[in-house]
Amino acid sequence: MTQTSNQFTVNTRSYRLPSRPVVIVCIDGCEQEYINQAVQAGVAPFFASLRDKGTVLTGDCVMPSFTNPNNLSIVTGAPPSVHGICGNFFFDPEQQAEVLMNDARYLRAPSVLAALADLGKKVAVVTAKDKLRSLLGHGLRGICFSAEKAADTTLADNGIEDVLQKVGLPVPSVYSADLSEFVFAAGVTLMKSERPDLMYLSTTDYIQHKFAPGTDGANDFYAMMDRYLVQLDAMGALIGLTADHGMNAKTDALGRPNIVFLQDVLDKDLGDGTARVLLPITDPYVVHHGALGSYATVYVKHAADTARVAALIAALPGIERVLGRSEAAASFELPPDRIGDLVVLSERLTVIGTSASQHDLSGLTVPLRSHGGMSEQRVPLLFNCVLSDVPATRLRNFDILSLALNHAA
Ligand code: ZN
Ligand code: ZN
Repeated sequence: MTQTSNQFTVNTRSYRLPSRPVVIVCIDGCEQEYINQAVQAGVAPFFASLRDKGTVLTGDCVMPSFTNPNNLSIVTGAPPSVHGICGNFFFDPEQQAEVLMNDARYLRAPSVLAALADLGKKVAVVTAKDKLRSLLGHGLRGICFSAEKAADTTLADNGIEDVLQKVGLPVPSVYSADLSEFVFAAGVTLMKSERPDLMYLSTTDYIQHKFAPGTDGANDFYAMMDRYLVQLDAMGALIGLTADHGMNAKTDALGRPNIVFLQDVLDKDLGDGTARVLLPITDPYVVHHGALGSYATVYVKHAADTARVAALIAALPGIERVLGRSEAAASFELPPDRIGDLVVLSERLTVIGTSASQHDLSGLTVPLRSHGGMSEQRVPLLFNCVLSDVPATRLRNFDILSLALNHAA
């Protein structure tokens, strides 16, 4: 990081110091249509007000369209090729094992949050799930906790204690809308008590995995968020909202999931052990999506087989693209050492699984909705103020800090 009088630079991008509290919200799985439908239903007055008093833009998230890569891109202002986090899992050749990428030691770049805190600014981060907390809070001298572990916060580890008492809500279930509501309630509490210079709030997509845009379940959720955003707005915060990725139905006409069980196909056609399919969406919380998304990586045992494996996968119904390692790294700004020999993307209505026996779909009580592919790249970029000189180039969700700090009037 370098700093001049009121500017600082992180990961080669320059930012102006905030002159009033800035709140960046990552609404997990926020397909734009959710907001549109909530506004049409008249339950989201804050969102509706942005048409006249704010700025409404659209951007692309990073690939894979998963939670962790995009949250890290948003707070570093950079793609996964820079920060290194390209999923929840990757195959570590050194350990010869699939390893979780949730640990901060896999992070390759500093965050704007940490940089601003180092400049003496007050920074606060609240996430829904704890899996993101250590990554987002890496190197951060400030407040950082998750709704999931809100009961366990300490001054030493989280920069704040007695969170439940301060927020006035019980610890929410990890599979609930309440987990995200806690994030917003905590955000309002912190804005009142601490008035951070920069606050990052990140929700969970439990609701978006279950409810399509415009349904009661979805509209209730957006109405809830709207009530808290109204309060943050009234306290004078500059609010920027985006999403880590969109969300789509992944089903046929009868709501049955369209799944390509890629490991089963490869084992049957090429023999066991030729190629290993890894799904970077896999994480400890899979009840609502069964670890099924539209993105997979494939590790091929013998390099000579790679082209044959790629051709076989590309010919499967429901598969949109198969890219080799270097092509995928270049096209999607991914770290080549963490993506496998092949990157596989399925079409909008299709997800990729490993083996049928490896996916517990009993938790899928409603038709599958998921993400991971290019069809979930479009996300909103919304601000409660007018922006000036917005670049005419393709916007990304990870431009949000630059837009909020550098372009707000
Ligand atoms: Zn997400
Ligand atoms: Zn999700």
